[in-house]
Amino acid sequence: MNYKKVMPLLMMLVLLVTACAVNPVTGKKQLSFMSEAQEIAMGKQSDPAIIAQYGLYPNETLQDFIQEKGEAMAAISHRPGLDYEFKILDSDVVNAFAVPGGYIYFTRGIMAHFNNEAQFAGVLGHEIGHVAARHSAQQYTKQMIGQIAFIGGMIASEKFRDFAGEAMQGMQLLFLKFSRSAESESDVLGVDYSSTVGYDAHQMADFFKTLDRMSGGSEGRLPEFYSTHPDPGRRYNDVNKLTDKWHEEHNANPNMVIRDSYLEMINGIIYGEDPRQGYVEENTFYHPELKFQFPVPVKWQLMNSPSQVQMAPEKGDALMVFTLSQKSTLAEAATEIKTTYQLQNIKEKSFKVHGLNAYGMVSDYPQSDPSTATSSTDQPEPLAMQTVLIDYNDLIYVFHGLCEKKDYDKFEPNFDNTMLNFKTLTDLSKINVLPERIKVVSVDNATTVQQFLAQKGIPSDRLEEFAILNGMQLSDNLSAGTLVKLIEKRAGDAVN
Ligand SMILES: [Zn+2]
Repeated sequence: MNYKKVMPLLMMLVLLVTACAVNPVTGKKQLSFMSEAQEIAMGKQSDPAIIAQYGLYPNETLQDFIQEKGEAMAAISHRPGLDYEFKILDSDVVNAFAVPGGYIYFTRGIMAHFNNEAQFAGVLGHEIGHVAARHSAQQYTKQMIGQIAFIGGMIASEKFRDFAGEAMQGMQLLFLKFSRSAESESDVLGVDYSSTVGYDAHQMADFFKTLDRMSGGSEGRLPEFYSTHPDPGRRYNDVNKLTDKWHEEHNANPNMVIRDSYLEMINGIIYGEDPRQGYVEENTFYHPELKFQFPVPVKWQLMNSPSQVQMAPEKGDALMVFTLSQKSTLAEAATEIKTTYQLQNIKEKSFKVHGLNAYGMVSDYPQSDPSTATSSTDQPEPLAMQTVLIDYNDLIYVFHGLCEKKDYDKFEPNFDNTMLNFKTLTDLSKINVLPERIKVVSVDNATTVQQFLAQKGIPSDRLEEFAILNGMQLSDNLSAGTLVKLIEKRAGDAVN
C-alpha cells in the first residue's frame, strides 16, 4: 500500500473528529465535532423540517421586520460573517430558538406577547448569542457523545420515531435545551447586543417577568420558553443587573423602547390556536378549510401540524398518523407506501369510506432501529401497521396506525373507528370558525387596566390573561391615549 496516498486521508479523518474551533465569543479553542460548514449544512437541512412542522406565519411585514432587525444585530455580534435567516413560525407556542448555522425562529405566540421592540430585541440578542457562542454546536456535540435522544414534544413511544420522521425533527429542535451556563452567557450577550444597537435592555428583563407570570397564570399552561429556559424570575433580576453594569461600563444609556409602532405592527395577528387549521371538539377532529372530519379515540392525545396530525394513547404504545400523499391515485399512493416502508405480509383491499373511494392495507412494518431489538443478535420485531388511503377532493389522504404486533387486536377497533369514519364536513357551524386576533385599541379616558378590559368585554376569567399579554397589572392606571392589546374574532389575513 502506498503510504503517501493513505496518510493525507487519515490525517483528514483525525482532523475532522478532533477539530478544535475557536469560539467567536470567548476567543478560546473548544472541542467541536462540527465545522462552520457543517453547522451551516445542519441549519439548511433542518429548516425545511421546521417549516413543514409549523409553517411560516403569512405576514410579510412581520417577516421583513425580524429579518431586518436580525441582520442589523448579527452585524454587531461576535459572529457577523454568517448568512443569518430569521423567521416567524405559525405557532401559538411562546418560544424562540436558534439552530446551528444562523437559523433563528420566533413564533407568532412570542411576537404577540412582546409589548415593545426593546423586549423583542433582548430575546433576539439572546438567540443570536446562542449562535455566536456556538451553543448549538456544543449541544449537538454533547448529543453525539452522550447519545441523548431528544424526544421532547413527542407524544408516542420512541419505537415509532423513525416512522414519524421529519416532523419529529422539527419538534425536537423547538424543545432543544441548552446548559444553564450557555443560557447565562446568552443573557449577557442579549443585553450586550440589544444595548449596542440602542435598546433599553431593562425591557428584556420585563419580558422575563411576563414569562414568569404566564408559567403560573390562569391559563395553567407552561410557555415553552419557560420549560426550555431557566427560571425567568431569577433572570429578571440578573438581566436588570447586567443592564446596569453595561450602562456603567460603556458610560452610555441606550433607552430605545418603541412601544406604539410595535403594537401597531402586531395589530391583527392571530392569537392562540388557529381553528381553521384543524381543531378537536368532543372527540372529533374538524378541518374547516379542507372540509373533513374524523373521530379521535377517547383519551388519546392529538398533535396537529401543517404536515400531519398525530394521535397517541397516554401510554404512547400506539400511534396514528394522518397525512397527505404526494401521489394522485390510490394505487400509486399504496405502491409508494409499500416501497418506502418496505412493508411485509400485506393484506389489502379496495372499499368505500362514507361514499369515498378507499384502499386498506394491514402489514408488518420492519423497524430499522436496532436499539429496539431485545438482544444484540436479534432483528427487532416488526410492528403491525394498518393503512387506509382515502380519495377526497382530488387529494389522497393517508391514515397509518402503528403498534406492536401483539397489541394489534387491542388497537384495531381504535384504528378502524377513526379511519373508517373519515367523512365530508358539511356542518356550517363547524366550518365557519374564526381565530382570535390581536386588536390594538387606544384608551379614551383615564382608567384602570381592570376597568378598561371589563368595559371592552373581556370576560372576568380572562382578565389576568390580558393583563399579562399587555405586561400590566390589573390595578395599573391607564392614561388616555395608551395603546392596549385586546382581541377580536374575525376572518381575513393579518393586517399588514
Ligand atoms: Zn436560550
